[in-house]
Amino acid sequence: MNILVTGGAGFIGSAVVRELIHHTSHHVTNVDKLTYAGNLESLAAIEDSPRYRFVQADIVDAEAMHRVFRECQPDVVMHLAAESHVDRSIDGPATFIQTNVVGTSVLLETARAYWQALKQDDPTKAAGFRFHHVSTDEVYGDLGESEASGVRGEGRSGEALGVRGGGRNGEALGVRGEEPPLTSEALTPHPSPAKPLFTETTPYSPSSPYSASKAGSDHLVRAWQRTFGLPTLVTNCSNNYGPYHFPEKLIPLMILNALAGKPLPVYGDGGQIRDWLYVEDHARALVQVATRGTIGETYNIGGHNEKTNLEVVEAICEILDELVPAEERGVRGEAHIPSQAKRSPLTPHKELITFVTDRPGHDRRYAIDASKIKRELGWHPQETFETGLRKTVAWYLENREWWQRVQDGSYQGERLGVV
Ligand code: NAD
Repeated sequence: MNILVTGGAGFIGSAVVRELIHHTSHHVTNVDKLTYAGNLESLAAIEDSPRYRFVQADIVDAEAMHRVFRECQPDVVMHLAAESHVDRSIDGPATFIQTNVVGTSVLLETARAYWQALKQDDPTKAAGFRFHHVSTDEVYGDLGESEASGVRGEGRSGEALGVRGGGRNGEALGVRGEEPPLTSEALTPHPSPAKPLFTETTPYSPSSPYSASKAGSDHLVRAWQRTFGLPTLVTNCSNNYGPYHFPEKLIPLMILNALAGKPLPVYGDGGQIRDWLYVEDHARALVQVATRGTIGETYNIGGHNEKTNLEVVEAICEILDELVPAEERGVRGEAHIPSQAKRSPLTPHKELITFVTDRPGHDRRYAIDASKIKRELGWHPQETFETGLRKTVAWYLENREWWQRVQDGSYQGERLGVV
């Protein structure tokens, strides 16, 4: 099959492209604008494959999209291109509306025209055509009790703690704000759930410009299916982590700060709960849904790994304590740890944990019920949080050149295949 992947130079998109080239015989066209989040170096392992082709283009550009569809002749579209970082959506929502909402509508219209033409030219190929839209569990809103506890949560994917705005070169890995007051109640790691887990029928209630723009794009996809009969599928997934993750997100940020001996900034009390999924497990799930899922259906994807942010950061510290020899540890920053937060004995890296003021409007808890995809497609994650996190930390230790080139901006130096 010919598979058109949008956003294939991003964190999850590159894992999908690697999965398709390494583990299937499909042909892949990757269309990506190469924003700050697009990194072709994440595709070095497959870029020479004769089954892979890259096209630099903006999904908002209808003419370019028509050209890409004409050249690729896709059997399946996997739409991952998006602005994905909550902090950036607060600083500048317009790009999020443009790419996530307008860009998705352009792709849907392009796909519809292509599919209609295919019905005349090649009815068999038209009958098998599928448009898979990749989305987030953030569209469902907040499962927690942020108002009641007086403590606010953190956004999707462990977005940048202490990182705001531009930061194209990944330079702004600093600490922002003051330490909030901590209470023993606030330090309870897993408050009892206020609501059941997110299912495919949970009503949408997005909190941030990012999640609102993704919710808008999800609605568009379902409307194109219902109104025009376009054969679509939607997936909504929990927090991803793993190799090639841009270092503005929680897990890589903490690993790289710890390696540099810088403070590890934890928002609020660190008690915000996220469900973590190893990115390669997500990529496998996406390929299964795209190729075998039932048209018109939505599938939730999650790891059944609910962790507080503080637990995640402490687990990273423990792995680094073990893997990084004492003489190779970074110079210590000005870390400050409130006494109430000492939940476990401090180790060399845990000493760097620093609690910083939370930001407003964030969700306390996300947790996903992924039983449908398991039941209907037989997918389940291969990694536990412990094995996946260990692999991730080891990957960042072994692939310094990749993240150093992100941090110094040189990864943006090369551009290929401009349409
Ligand atoms: P990312 O930010 O790492 O990558 C996004 C990619 O899209 C980049 O390569 C970027 O260059 C490209 N892009 C951005 N705007 C574009 C445009 N206008 N035209 C063409 N390409 C453009 O994001 P990610 O974390 O890999 O997420 C991929 C998708 O998965 C997104 O739709 C996101 O909403 C969704 N998702 C992410 C997570 C997560 O934890 N990261 C979880 C669930 C769902």
